[in-house]
Amino acid sequence: MTQSVVDPVVPAANLAPVESPAAATDRQKGREYGFSRWFNRIGILLIHVGTVVAFVRGVHARLVLLAVAFYFIRMFAVTGVYHRYFSHRSYKTSRVMQFLLALLGTTATQKGPLWWAAAHRIHHRYSDTPQDVHSPKQRGFWYSHVGWWLGKDHEETHWKQIKDFAKYPELVFLDKWHVIGVFACMGAATLIGGGFDGFLWGYVVSTCFLAHGTFTINSLAHVFGSRRYETTDTSRNNFWLALITMGEGWHNNHHHYMNSANQGFFWWEIDVTYYILKGMEKVGLVWDVKKPPRHIIEGTSAPRSVTTKEAA
Ligand SMILES: [Zn+2]
Ligand SMILES: [Zn+2]
Repeated sequence: MTQSVVDPVVPAANLAPVESPAAATDRQKGREYGFSRWFNRIGILLIHVGTVVAFVRGVHARLVLLAVAFYFIRMFAVTGVYHRYFSHRSYKTSRVMQFLLALLGTTATQKGPLWWAAAHRIHHRYSDTPQDVHSPKQRGFWYSHVGWWLGKDHEETHWKQIKDFAKYPELVFLDKWHVIGVFACMGAATLIGGGFDGFLWGYVVSTCFLAHGTFTINSLAHVFGSRRYETTDTSRNNFWLALITMGEGWHNNHHHYMNSANQGFFWWEIDVTYYILKGMEKVGLVWDVKKPPRHIIEGTSAPRSVTTKEAA
């Protein structure tokens, strides 16, 4: 039996959200997170209504292509940036690039990078236990898919989980004002798509599919698929989910070894996010792209020297 590898970056912590200095100031002014909270709740409703409207107005190849392009660019922003960088630090980059990647991430309309990564770190630390953020085993399928997102329990950033990135004021700013990226994406879709239909398909439809595509990893990837590694959670490997999420469907691999930039461990495990990261590494935008050691892939015990090095 193999064991999940604990992320050395994240200290065990109290799950109660701890305010950043900026958030504490805003709370005194009585407006902390209020706009963000309602923007997300009403926004997710409008996105579904807008998607129905878009299909009723007519499906055209040009608009579908626009939606597909905005879907995959922003799926990379979720998987390659929010997940593999901010949550797991599976590669390194410059401070400027870190900010630009975070800004790209906000266009996905999945709240700020620090909020996203902090909640995800809790998921790994407490996978499928009562403290998990979104466990289908604990709270049912729909709660794990979207209920946790709409609820009150995790609407604020769990600052204790994300101290390593909360020290950058530009990231704290983006975390609070993630709507900047959302509005930028709406504007880009409208401009590129040539008006209202461009907005509907480039932003609204693609955001609806992007949200559910991402959420499937929290729900379906803990229910349907195969298990290569006997992790302590219910994570699965699922080829179809890997296709629509650019590699995140190899979720059992990922729970087995979360610090790796690649989640597909073998050549046939398609992982488009990783291919893009390798391309970015080749042109010098990112570096130290981590891969799993051989004993991790084989699911065998670690050589003593490797264990010591990784635990440092
Ligand atoms: Zn999981
Ligand atoms: Zn993860």
